[in-house]
Amino acid sequence: MQMRVGAAAITRITEREHWAFAPTELFPEITEAEAGRTRSRYAPTSVDPSSGELVLAIHTYVIRLGGQVIVVDPGNGNHKERPNLPAHHHFATDYPDRFAAAGFDPAEVGLVVSTHLHPDHCGWNTTLVDGRWVPTFPNATHVFFDEELAFVESLAAQGVSDFPALYEDSVQPVLGRARRLSLASEQVLASWDGTEVVAVAAPGHTPGHCVIEIRGRERAVISGDVIHHPVQLELPDLSQAGDSDRSQARRTRAALLARCADEGITLLPAHFPGGGPVSLERDTSGALTWRGVEVVA
Ligand SMILES: [Zn+2]
Repeated sequence: MQMRVGAAAITRITEREHWAFAPTELFPEITEAEAGRTRSRYAPTSVDPSSGELVLAIHTYVIRLGGQVIVVDPGNGNHKERPNLPAHHHFATDYPDRFAAAGFDPAEVGLVVSTHLHPDHCGWNTTLVDGRWVPTFPNATHVFFDEELAFVESLAAQGVSDFPALYEDSVQPVLGRARRLSLASEQVLASWDGTEVVAVAAPGHTPGHCVIEIRGRERAVISGDVIHHPVQLELPDLSQAGDSDRSQARRTRAALLARCADEGITLLPAHFPGGGPVSLERDTSGALTWRGVEVVA
């Protein structure tokens, strides 16, 4: 998928197309009735018809703006040791080939930014070479937000799950080339010819979660884990298992979806399988409607 937003060209490069989870594994509060309706409406694209599992993908986005190349949410990465998080353990994808096939050279990437520091959003910060984790994008500056870095540093220090390993293999090796920013105010990461790439706080899934907005004649938002699966468009109160503050995450999700509809911002999800960018609108009753998601009516 490739689209123009103002002066920016945005390319989606998918690391993994089929990443399946039992409905209650993804959404602990989903009811039997909601899960049943989801199975009938969202198969075969966003539900696996044979297992009934909800299907996610893992997308990364590359923004070309003027002479700048920016990678947003660099995926899970290969060979990462995540024994406590089996869904993230030992990927072996051809992502580097896909990156090259999309027309990009890792050496031309100038900026890398993660919506948050969960394993599937910062993994390709590094690549395993001869037993060492080295930066995948050798000339890039990595943007870290203080609120998120502090959160992950504290999880790593407490030994929570696989966060010590994540910090060691995907954060530490690029910290020396990092730009540290705060999400207390919006941060313009790049600007050219009337188009800006802006990080905006979107807390809830993690305390320092942000979304990346591209603002020009058109607008789009790379939404990270504000929303995981298309069923959350119709059931926006569904919390994902990894949301660190569920009520804050609900408020952030509702506010972002409303802004997309009311301000004409195209939604670029991290995890929706198939389909394209999502356009939201309101019907005459004021309810949200959307296009770009494959459903059975
Ligand atoms: Zn994610």
